[in-house]
Amino acid sequence: MHPIRLQALREIKHGQSSITNTTTQDLNNAKKISEIYGTATFSLKEMQTKLSREAYESFKKVKAGKEKMDSKLASAVAEAAKSWALQNGATHFTHWFQPLTGLTAEKHDSFISYDDEGGVIEKFSGGQLLQSEPDASSFPSGGMRSTFEARGYTAWDPTSPLFIVEHAGAKILCVPSVFVSYTGHSLDTKTSLLRSIEVLNHSAVAMLKEMGDTQVKQVGATIGCEQEYFLVDQNFVNLRPDLLLTGRTLIGADMPKGQQLEDHYFGAIPPRVQSFMAHAENELYKLGIPVKTRHNEVAPSQFEMAPIYEDANLASDHNMLSMEVLRRVAEEHGFVCLLHEKPFAGINGSGKHNNWSIATDTGENLLEPGKTPHANFRFIAVLSCIMHAVHKHQVALRASIASHGNDHRLGANEAPPAIISVFMGSALTEILNKLEKGDDLSKHSAERSLIDFGLNRLPALPKDTTDRNRTSPFAFTGNKFEYRAVGSSQAISFPVSILNAAVAESMKEFTKRLHAKKAGAVSTDSAVLEVSKELFLESSHIRFEGNGYSEEWRAEAKKRGLSELLKTPESFAAFAKKENHSFLVDTGVYKAEEVDAFIHVKLEQYAKFLDIEAQTLGTLARQYVIPAAQNYQAQLANIVKTLEDVGQNAAKAQKDFLRDLTDAIDSAYIIGAKVKQETAAAHEQTDPLKVATHFGEKVTVAMQELRTVCDKIEAIVPDELWPLPKYREMLFIR
Ligand code: ADP
Ligand code: MG
Repeated sequence: MHPIRLQALREIKHGQSSITNTTTQDLNNAKKISEIYGTATFSLKEMQTKLSREAYESFKKVKAGKEKMDSKLASAVAEAAKSWALQNGATHFTHWFQPLTGLTAEKHDSFISYDDEGGVIEKFSGGQLLQSEPDASSFPSGGMRSTFEARGYTAWDPTSPLFIVEHAGAKILCVPSVFVSYTGHSLDTKTSLLRSIEVLNHSAVAMLKEMGDTQVKQVGATIGCEQEYFLVDQNFVNLRPDLLLTGRTLIGADMPKGQQLEDHYFGAIPPRVQSFMAHAENELYKLGIPVKTRHNEVAPSQFEMAPIYEDANLASDHNMLSMEVLRRVAEEHGFVCLLHEKPFAGINGSGKHNNWSIATDTGENLLEPGKTPHANFRFIAVLSCIMHAVHKHQVALRASIASHGNDHRLGANEAPPAIISVFMGSALTEILNKLEKGDDLSKHSAERSLIDFGLNRLPALPKDTTDRNRTSPFAFTGNKFEYRAVGSSQAISFPVSILNAAVAESMKEFTKRLHAKKAGAVSTDSAVLEVSKELFLESSHIRFEGNGYSEEWRAEAKKRGLSELLKTPESFAAFAKKENHSFLVDTGVYKAEEVDAFIHVKLEQYAKFLDIEAQTLGTLARQYVIPAAQNYQAQLANIVKTLEDVGQNAAKAQKDFLRDLTDAIDSAYIIGAKVKQETAAAHEQTDPLKVATHFGEKVTVAMQELRTVCDKIEAIVPDELWPLPKYREMLFIR
């Protein structure tokens, strides 16, 4: 083994790392989860003890969107938050926001201020709580800020609680915030999410009202996301420029054993990982994040974590925080947490299944097949809207999950495919087929048609785990949809905003048609069924129950007129067409300039990431792979020559082997130059779409060729000459 790798191997801490913060105390004292849960959040319960009764009641109204925040209330909340934060050891505060980079951003300010005598006191004003102006000129704005005004403001989102993050002994009070420009354009992904939640609320309440449901005052989206990730020892990562700089391996030869035995999936969690998970979960509990499930995933060293579902805005904030916590805690355990969609070739990548549903303030899940015929009508109606929405806005939904990382999953080596479709499961498919075929529904009373069409069996719908389709990007799973195509590293706010907006638009359409149809109908229920049927029929092409990975499906989808957008640039090119995004502007979820800006940022980011990957791969080839190969080449050449010197010709096989290696080295030089040329050619383009397209179509292809040569070299160069940690080490040693 190469000495550098050997040293990395020796330094792996197989035991627990020495963690010194309060978590260890919690873990050692074996506190109950309920005792630590939410202790790092400025929860309503905490606010109640710290605010006057009047202020507390006003705040609750503001949180529910029933009142606007005024400066008096802001001052009171700020004072209370400061007192709570200081009590808990926080020294700084920050507006915590989610710029278009898809990451989170923070800029810490300490609480200190001068008092009248020139001494120092802690201060936190209502103004500081409400708004901040980070010097944020480096955040991407897709040109919006340069056109309008350079300033960006962060503003407190009172629907998500303040929290304290503890990191390396420092404690910071975080204020969840939106990030907007001086002109009120959003510069983040949270603003549109909040708008989409509101739009969905309005459309759903109006639709239910039209259906005769007058109890429901508020409807919201619920989300539970299953987060997949890899853990790799830091010692290995430090020796891999590709993992350090790009979060994925750009080269790495196949291993004889990958995931084919499926022996990792749901297996016993390795001890060191278990200790990491317990620690991370403890941190998450303190932050009021309801982590529920953990298990090994399919690929070696791949794991998953899932929380109990929550209101969409909170779930989105919580997922951003969870990713941060996973990364941070992993470091404390000597691991690196890889959230990239495809860290290793040849084994599964990571996704983030977004379980999504709609719930009412009366506590009902609208995707729960009900116990009464009425509830079933509602279920069918909502389902028809979702199908209609996904069908109509498949391009936007595809674009919402497009990224350089997810390009490796969607429609590439593994699924879900780059074609959006909906999986309903066999039981529901049967019902929908009957509903669609049922020629004369009007002859039946509503109750009768329910029975005729098998709808009375809905409550007994088995939530059966065999009726699953891993290949579907958007699957119904009993009482929610699982949007499986979302990437593991992605902020969920963008895909969820698109989904909410699309469904809201279809609900509006439903309400309009229902209103018209009710006039001549026997009953509201029969009119509901009629409209549902219309929407199902109009969107029937989006339904697909078969194998989404198959070539037949690609052909079939094409026949059906569904779009297959393989890569990020083409996804955004399609999304940029007005017909594919105007619903966002019409519903008010995005402003037209924001859509343009967003596309601009996404394309630019795509090109930047690929540029970094291409350069890093070049470095790997030049500084690691080729020198190692040449070392070996020299050894082999020497042997051949020495043998000839003593009159013993080397066998042909040996010479052929040397020839192969020499050819591979030559190829590495030649293709390395090609990667460089293509990268330069990409940069010569001026239009962001053209730059991104060149990266996607040319640079990635050259990179793949270079990788193939490097992997071939890795497979033949002696272990002791190979400086980069190998797949088997990174994936099987911890
Ligand atoms: P499954 O194994 O069928 O995927 P789980 O119960 O493990 O179901 O749920 C997976 C995720 O789906 C969890 O995060 C869970 O909280 C979430 N989930 C369950 N019900 C809903 C719902 N109504 N809305 C949103 N997410 C949900
Ligand atoms: Mg699931």
